[in-house]
Amino acid sequence: MKKIAILGITGSVGQSACAVIREHKNDFQIVLASANNNLASALKAAKEFSIPKLVIINDQPTTDKHSKTELLFGAENLTSLLRDIDCDIVLNAVAGSAGLPYSMITLERGLVLALANKESLVMAGKLMTEKANQMQASILPVDSEHSAILQLIGKTPKEEIKKIILTASGGPFRTLPTSKFNSITLEESLQHPTWNMGAKITVDSATMMNKGLEVIEAHWLFGLEYEKIEAIIHPQSIIHSLVEFYDGSILAQLSEPTMKLPILHAFTYPYHHKSQLCNTNLLSIPPLTFESIPPKKYPLFFLAVEAGKEGGLAPTILNAANEAAVSLFLHKKISYQEIHGIVAMALNKYQNEINPDLETILDTNNQIYQEIINNYKAM
Ligand code: MG
Repeated sequence: MKKIAILGITGSVGQSACAVIREHKNDFQIVLASANNNLASALKAAKEFSIPKLVIINDQPTTDKHSKTELLFGAENLTSLLRDIDCDIVLNAVAGSAGLPYSMITLERGLVLALANKESLVMAGKLMTEKANQMQASILPVDSEHSAILQLIGKTPKEEIKKIILTASGGPFRTLPTSKFNSITLEESLQHPTWNMGAKITVDSATMMNKGLEVIEAHWLFGLEYEKIEAIIHPQSIIHSLVEFYDGSILAQLSEPTMKLPILHAFTYPYHHKSQLCNTNLLSIPPLTFESIPPKKYPLFFLAVEAGKEGGLAPTILNAANEAAVSLFLHKKISYQEIHGIVAMALNKYQNEINPDLETILDTNNQIYQEIINNYKAM
């Protein structure tokens, strides 16, 4: 029986993790869960899975007399529980930069980090991979593309890999002419064609910032130079990524789009466990097509890859500005097109630093995020 902590249990990845554990009740036990503010949904999960400890990060403290779960409030309580709870795997499905401290604690303890919070690696990939090596902790991706690559590479030495190719759906505006981007609405941005996810990542998928962040994530997860990481649009989201070897052979990993598969694989790595959660019928999938990424339509993808190559604080600046801009967009304070402007401006404005420590990364992130939000507060 593996003991699992699920951070972000009420989000879309957290709920998929619950489906995985529901199917494998004899293999996994949830010992700790957290949610940002969705108390009712978190308590429902706590009851179903008899979770002993539940932390709600952003909500007014209350008590629930009927629950057998110990209910705590605030990020500090989650931090201290995570530091000493008896557990094997931490699934970090916290949204955005707030997830980074929990990733670091997990690695400091030498545990398995099942990572859905890609921002952790974007902001602190160097520190995290160093810590994982030092503590012999493993970072297993809970991102469909990176899970695909992990499965494809297997034990192949890096020297045999010519490149990896991440697939991207292209989001809801793939076929919309760039001339119409000025009139894109929030509602349209939240209509993802193939994946059902939270609002922030759905907008990131529309702009393809998400794919840019995933290139940075792949760089740190697989230790590959940026020149060996490509991305391609594959609208059907059936092939989750590909690996090309030096002899020209290309392997692809396919399945219907479901996060349950990457989660199950991270929980059971390196094995492929028996499961009914993913059933891909090759006879009913649409024809598989590929397109290159047009720079005019998806400038944020290219900006993100550049920031990744620059390294240091640049990916933190990029990510903080994007989180702030997307939040403003979700609150209808700015237009879709302005997201790119804000991120590009931040990368120009803020000074890069080559080897930032964790404190500098977290401070820079908070400072940039707040500055951008404050600029629009009065509006
Ligand atoms: Mg992904």
